[in-house]
Amino acid sequence: MIHSLSDKILNTTNATVSINEPMKKHTTYGIGGPAELFVLPSNKEDLIEVVKLSKEHKEVVTIIGSGSNLLISDEGIKGVVVSIKHCLREINIDTDEIYVECGIMLGKIVKESMKHDLKGLENLIGVPGTLGGALMMNAGAWGGEISENLQTVELLDEKNEIQLISKSDIDFAYRSSSFNKNTILLSATFKLKKSPKEIIQDNFELAKSGRKSTQPLNYRSAGSVFKNPSSKHSAGMLIDQSGLKGLKRGDAQISNKHANFFVNNGNAKADDMMKLIKEAKHTVKEKFDIELELEVKLLGFSAEEINAL
Ligand SMILES: Cc1cc2nc3c(=O)[nH]c(=O)nc-3n(C[C@H](O)[C@H](O)[C@H](O)COP(=O)(O)OP(=O)(O)OC[C@H]3O[C@@H](n4cnc5c(N)ncnc54)[C@H](O)[C@@H]3O)c2cc1C
Repeated sequence: MIHSLSDKILNTTNATVSINEPMKKHTTYGIGGPAELFVLPSNKEDLIEVVKLSKEHKEVVTIIGSGSNLLISDEGIKGVVVSIKHCLREINIDTDEIYVECGIMLGKIVKESMKHDLKGLENLIGVPGTLGGALMMNAGAWGGEISENLQTVELLDEKNEIQLISKSDIDFAYRSSSFNKNTILLSATFKLKKSPKEIIQDNFELAKSGRKSTQPLNYRSAGSVFKNPSSKHSAGMLIDQSGLKGLKRGDAQISNKHANFFVNNGNAKADDMMKLIKEAKHTVKEKFDIELELEVKLLGFSAEEINAL
């Protein structure tokens, strides 16, 4: 089935396809087993066609951006994994409004908006994801969230139809959004504020240096593993106070610099990361009676593996 779908995609689109593609090549953790079929569409029309063909072949479709918030199982992912990072690459700025397609990296959006003296996205510098991933996650940093200046989102719904929805139709909360998990985010518009260059630059520098001084940026990670349970308790502080900084399982380690960052020291397996996640969750629950919730998204794991955490 996968081979005939692969042939059909190759015959009808310009997408790149690969069977049993190691997902460790597509995650910032550098972890993840094979995707049965991995597809990189090169434009929006191809993306829509790939999704349509996959559904006709009754294959489950998983959409990923730059893989910076993903822990993918060592067993890999069944069905079709579509990465949008090579398509949806348009960005247009008109006065104080930005139209951006969802395959563009946040860093580029921040820099483009700064060139036009537009304030509102600069705090997100250093969040290493695509716009699509950022909207799904409601990515945020240094007091700013991607949803703040959002106006509209264009998406492909479950029926493979394009919808334009306004921000008021979406619920955003801390690191979460109400988008149906089967929708594919295509583009978004933002309205920003014209501001003096120096103010934007100061915010940018603050976010950049804050990140550098607190996060283990020389190691492979997926950023924060857990959400902060409240404004009073950060997940990093709770894990640190549980005495778990530096804990290793295989090549996976709880960072000595930031206890909510778990790093891959070289050849870590998803299984090693899952062991650390389980130990951190259980120890924090035991010590503080606080239930940590994952921020990192798990892909390719069985319900039993997830329930065992
Ligand atoms: C060093 C480091 C620092 C980080 N710092 C921060 C931080 O400060 N703040 C923060 O919020 N995050 C942070 N992150 C996490 C991560 O960068 C963000 O969550 C980012 O927004 C994920 O984007 P992505 O494109 O990599 O998405 P992926 O990791 O590829 O996917 C994330 C989720 O979005 C879905 N998805 C992706 N694209 C689409 C699309 N177009 N349509 C539908 N669904 C889609 C995926 O299915 C998945 O569920 C950090 C990560 C690293 C490695």
